[in-house]
Amino acid sequence: MNLIFLGSPGSGKGTLAKLLSSALGVPHISPGDILREEVKQNSELGHMALPIMKKGDLVPDEIILKMMKKRITQADCLGGFILDGFPRNRAQAIGLDEMLSGLDRSVIWTLQFEVSDECALKRLGGRRICSVCGADFNLFTKPPKNSDICDICGGKLLQRADDTDEVILNRLKVYRQETLPLEEYYKRQGKLIRINGELEAEVRLTEALKALGK
Ligand code: AMP
Repeated sequence: MNLIFLGSPGSGKGTLAKLLSSALGVPHISPGDILREEVKQNSELGHMALPIMKKGDLVPDEIILKMMKKRITQADCLGGFILDGFPRNRAQAIGLDEMLSGLDRSVIWTLQFEVSDECALKRLGGRRICSVCGADFNLFTKPPKNSDICDICGGKLLQRADDTDEVILNRLKVYRQETLPLEEYYKRQGKLIRINGELEAEVRLTEALKALGK
């Protein structure tokens, strides 16, 4: 099942993508995660992307499309995938459709997660990620027992560099201008499923599975 997750930063799509990926047994593919790994590895791609990511702007389409093609054509994607954070504009959506049709495949469903800006700001501002095991916490909704220590492995909890107020506001603006129009793109194709992103993660998972007929 080839799925796209559409939603603003802070809509909880990453959390749900991880849960649904385990439930359906298909890989969770996040270009943001791939880019952060490239930055960590100090690669050429990481060097190019870092200043753009720090501002909350979009990395150029040609680079993202090439990166995603490389990932989607790997063997573990044959049974389907969840794309979390791609496509993020019309050019990427068209590029994805062309890429998939070249592989005799297509987008099956686009799940859109809707949240208020207030909810998104709270989720992103409170988000802390373990620097060792990658576990997610939130100072407001899922607080760690000790403020900057991971409950699971004892690693140090960090705030993402682009989770600051100024960058969050730009990311929300970029989402509204570039990504939100994709709602119409997939609606016209009869592929859009809307889910209330403000529900608890487990409830969102149940809703998503029900909507997908699972
Ligand atoms: P995310 O982890 O999805 O919040 O993405 C973090 C950052 O990576 C974004 O703010 C962009 O700078 C970059 N990025 C992630 N996905 C894309 C994409 N599909 N197109 C362009 N830039 C992206």
